[in-house]
Amino acid sequence: MIEDKNQQTTQLSDLGEFGLIEHLTKHFKIKQKSTIKGIGDDAAVLEFKNKKIVVTTDLLVEGVHFDLSYMPLKHLGYKAVIVNLSDVFAMNATATQITVSIAVSNRFPLEALEDLYAGIGTAANIYNVDVVGGDTTSSTKGLLISVTAIGEVENNDEVYRNGAKPNDLLVVSGDLGAAYMGLQVLEREKEVYKVNPNNQPDLEPYTYIVERQLKPEARKDIIKLLSDLKLKPTAMIDVSDGLSSEIIHICKQSKVGCDLYEEKIPLDPQVISTCEEFNIDSTTVALNGGEDYELLFTISQKDYPKIKANPNFSIIGHIKEERAGTHLITRAETKIPIKAQGWKNFSA
Ligand code: ADP
Ligand code: MG
Repeated sequence: MIEDKNQQTTQLSDLGEFGLIEHLTKHFKIKQKSTIKGIGDDAAVLEFKNKKIVVTTDLLVEGVHFDLSYMPLKHLGYKAVIVNLSDVFAMNATATQITVSIAVSNRFPLEALEDLYAGIGTAANIYNVDVVGGDTTSSTKGLLISVTAIGEVENNDEVYRNGAKPNDLLVVSGDLGAAYMGLQVLEREKEVYKVNPNNQPDLEPYTYIVERQLKPEARKDIIKLLSDLKLKPTAMIDVSDGLSSEIIHICKQSKVGCDLYEEKIPLDPQVISTCEEFNIDSTTVALNGGEDYELLFTISQKDYPKIKANPNFSIIGHIKEERAGTHLITRAETKIPIKAQGWKNFSA
């Protein structure tokens, strides 16, 4: 994909490491008052008063987490930031800073890294976080990108995975399964392209699901909404590996069980139609797909009026005693134990 581009290319070796860092980061402006020193010294300096600090890291590896044949570098930069911010929001915290580390092979010209950093910069601006540092090194093959995100949360406002109580309601934001189906469409088009490179893919019927794969968003708006509603979830997690694995995390850590109702799982019409086309069960996709970056949380029954009829939220189940186990209640009203499939990084 990079080689296809009819544009000027500059070898990274022409700039040297320091020239490269300076070139890629010179447009980043400091926006947060907690950032005392950003890029340019041996370490960033941050100052948070009377707040708890949350820190989270993700590492993305070419060929494992992304495929540059359909993932434009600008989108990759954006997504690498988003996946981290999603973890900050899942703590009910506000994201404030990120660091970005990259390892690149000489296969990538400067212009490719400019695209990557354009995506990183766009996400940092939209989500109002400062890029305060990182590291730059070479790799023998492929691209690695690691983002660390830092956030702040008022004392006692942080939400863990372990606070769910029996009778709590299980709630999820947005809809599920779209990013996974978007990936299925992109993989299919890639195969078609391999056979006939003149065949232009028609992605028009799949715009929503492809965008959910290539340009996901983190639910900063939901954290704001919860705060406006004066609603503190009892437990929360972001949906990165699929609903079933996230439910199991909450249940294990909270020592509770759960009933999840199949008919309540929120699905976009495009997910349903694409699942029909691919002959895949849409519930399986929501349970095991992943990369939704929605927020899954539990709330006390007394808080039900605060979210009732809010289109941002779906109540998909309720929490039970641990000994009741963790089950999916199907449309046919059969009870199936929920198993964690998780994202398939380590499977053969
Ligand atoms: P050091 O030798 O101390 O590791 P570097 O030369 O790697 O320092 O980094 C110089 C400055 O540039 C530091 O502030 C570092 O955090 C920042 N930096 C390095 N690489 C990146 C990058 N890829 N993205 C953003 N900031 C970076
Ligand atoms: Mg360094």
